[in-house]
Amino acid sequence: MLTGVNQRETDPVVVVGAGLAGSRTCTELRKRGYGGPIVLIGDEATKPYDRPPLSKGVIRGKREPKPLKADYEGLDIDLRLETKAESVDLAGRRVLTSGGPIAFGSLVIATGATPVRLPGTGEQLLLRTGNDALALRDRLGSGARVVVIGAGWIGAEVAHAALERGCAVVGLEYQSAPLAQALGAEIGARFADWWGGTLRTGVRVAAVEPDGVHLEGGEVIPADTVVTGVGVRPATAWLAGSGLELLPAVAVDERLRAGVPDVYALGDAAAWWSPRFGRRMDVQHWDDAYSAPSVVAQGIIGGEGPESVHDPVPYFWSDQFGHRIEYVGHHSADDALAVDTVEGAWSARWTDAEGRLTAALAVDAPKLIPVLRKEIAAV
Ligand SMILES: Cc1cc2nc3c(=O)[nH]c(=O)nc-3n(C[C@H](O)[C@H](O)[C@H](O)COP(=O)(O)OP(=O)(O)OC[C@H]3O[C@@H](n4cnc5c(N)ncnc54)[C@H](O)[C@@H]3O)c2cc1C
Repeated sequence: MLTGVNQRETDPVVVVGAGLAGSRTCTELRKRGYGGPIVLIGDEATKPYDRPPLSKGVIRGKREPKPLKADYEGLDIDLRLETKAESVDLAGRRVLTSGGPIAFGSLVIATGATPVRLPGTGEQLLLRTGNDALALRDRLGSGARVVVIGAGWIGAEVAHAALERGCAVVGLEYQSAPLAQALGAEIGARFADWWGGTLRTGVRVAAVEPDGVHLEGGEVIPADTVVTGVGVRPATAWLAGSGLELLPAVAVDERLRAGVPDVYALGDAAAWWSPRFGRRMDVQHWDDAYSAPSVVAQGIIGGEGPESVHDPVPYFWSDQFGHRIEYVGHHSADDALAVDTVEGAWSARWTDAEGRLTAALAVDAPKLIPVLRKEIAAV
């Protein structure tokens, strides 16, 4: 096999985080002919898998968690599961893990993100891992009182599954509408009916306690199961004090380099500089974790190539309440919004002060998104 020109012969590429971005970085390296040693470490017990099917299939009882298609053994990738990276010594070029130190020639940070937990001593189910999904699925029995905190992407998909399985659902959202944080209150209001009267907006949760969910103001909502879906934080605590810039996502440039030679970060754990949008982006989308690995692999191997720079038009989708929502681009609060309805489906477009399309949303209109994505890319 070939050996990469930028790579020390003896020390491996160490990829920390065995999720989509980490797994694909390893396979992309091999695809590009990198022949040196590769170590992929992950703290979960299972081989890397995709997360979107957890909320769209697993918790609805429609499928099991399934590993990504990658032949780690055949590709000579040293996959070390149940191994947690605890810190990194950049000067000494080694990662300190629960399984001992590992020297690296190149380091790739792909540790993803961790769901935020609310205060209180009551049980809160989160949805990030395959085990989380299996545990939640077991609790979504007919008649169970399920409180879903947060009417964002994950909250809506969980509420959909719970309603479908006959649970008595109460959704709690502190904004005035579902998805308002991501899409604004005007667009968010269009999704409220999908919750079938189960969503309470403008309410703040103070704590989750053993007797139920305590709202600010004193009301207590009893629950058999509480699911907290109020967002995620980049899983970068293990990098504290390393010298890397943490926002808390690892700050990287458009080549996904972390400002220290041979150190890269990508996926949900990274915030990359986007020349297209003139700002740092930390989108936490599947599509981003899927596409970024080819750029990291190219960077490690060295030299210029078509995939030297990561600056995509971001894309995100969600399946909820029998509808598909898709979003492309990136809009700011100042952008002008226009909504267009076509035969039951609808779309929204955001344009900047110069009238350029910055982002678009399509609901049940899948053919629209590739066209709009191209339009945004051409700006
Ligand atoms: C339920 C669910 C549904 C989703 N649905 C959608 C969707 O519909 N559309 C969409 O665009 N996106 C969706 N996403 C988001 C998408 O899955 C993520 O953007 C994507 O998984 C990010 O990949 P990643 O490899 O960066 O991180 P992850 O997939 O989180 O992988 C990171 C891995 O690193 C491990 N790790 C963390 N810290 C350490 C450490 N210190 N040492 C070792 N290992 C560590 C983690 O346990 C994890 O296995 C969804 C996410 C979830 C949870």
